[in-house]
Amino acid sequence: MEKIILTGDRPTGRLHLGHYVGSLKRRVELQNSGEYDKIFIMIADAQALTDNADNPEKVRQNIVEVALDYLSVGLDPEKSTLFIQSMVPELTELTFYYANLVTVSRLQRNPTVKSEIQMRNFETSIPVGFFTYPISQAADITAFKATTVPVGEDQMPMLEQCQEIVHKFNATYGEALVEPKILLPSNSACLRLPGTDGKAKMSKSLGNCIYLSDGPDEVKKKVMSMYTDPGHVDLNQPGKIEGNAVFTYLDAFSKDEDFAEFWPDYKNLQEAKDHYQRGGLGDVKVKKFLIKVLEKELAPIRERRKKWEQDIPGVYEILKAGSEVAERTAAETLADVKKAMKINYFDDGALIKEQMEKYSNKK
Ligand code: ATP
Ligand code: MG
Repeated sequence: MEKIILTGDRPTGRLHLGHYVGSLKRRVELQNSGEYDKIFIMIADAQALTDNADNPEKVRQNIVEVALDYLSVGLDPEKSTLFIQSMVPELTELTFYYANLVTVSRLQRNPTVKSEIQMRNFETSIPVGFFTYPISQAADITAFKATTVPVGEDQMPMLEQCQEIVHKFNATYGEALVEPKILLPSNSACLRLPGTDGKAKMSKSLGNCIYLSDGPDEVKKKVMSMYTDPGHVDLNQPGKIEGNAVFTYLDAFSKDEDFAEFWPDYKNLQEAKDHYQRGGLGDVKVKKFLIKVLEKELAPIRERRKKWEQDIPGVYEILKAGSEVAERTAAETLADVKKAMKINYFDDGALIKEQMEKYSNKK
């Protein structure tokens, strides 16, 4: 069986460190490993509209931002198909058919949808499109016959729901869909990177992000005002590591060689953590180290972004070409789905013959 990746992001803002450690970095590694037959990376504009229906301009503006972020982290259009969701209408059609296989109560139980509804204060006015976006996500994944979906932990319930749809479809209509597997970050700090405010998740919607496109001054400012241990007012007192966002970021980003390069007082992160917990190590020193570690990762990304920013028409060309490839692929799956569901009336010689015979007996 072919190994195929599908993953993507909502164009609701520029991409941030959470996206980077949760998914982007892994995608680039998988892309360059040469182990995958096909890689599809989707800018999920239709999904973004499910909770931004009144602000299509935001979505429109952010498509190119996300594409620039993709290219700047090293996604390569020669190896990965970058495309825009709404340019592939087959996805909408698949969603419509899959919707018959999912119950309202099952959607209500989806923990990610539940918490996102709360976060957006939708309560009693949940848009139907938003409520059903896990179904549309199942369409996105299965349309490309994806075997692997590299995403952050918040996507786990989406993948489970997608697998259920695949099972239900295949059991009802015959094996037409491929069951995908989630690929979570191997480093547990990257599963759900907290925001700079210490909140559980760095998220565009919460305004607690360090963006991949932030300049060095912005990164510095954001790190210096980051949430640490509010009880650690005197540097000689013991500090807490748990829930301390600065240390979580170091868990996610720092390597032993960074200590040799920028902070030779310690051999590795554990030594710095031990000192912080004993007391005697202040937040400022830790933050200064984090800035250096982040800069090492972000500087080359920023450089590549600058280059692509000078070729915006080229970026749109990449998305257009990718969307054409994506549409051809999704059309093949849609044909398989319709055949399995027996709604391919005009391609089905047996159906015409059957109907003919029914009437020929009446003569
Ligand atoms: P929005 O607030 O508009 O939903 P978002 O910041 O949650 O935006 P998405 O586009 O929903 O971003 O997520 C894209 C991908 O990035 C998903 O694979 C998701 O798991 C991953 N991701 C997003 N935020 C984080 C995070 N803080 N830590 C790890 N992974 C993340
Ligand atoms: Mg999200």
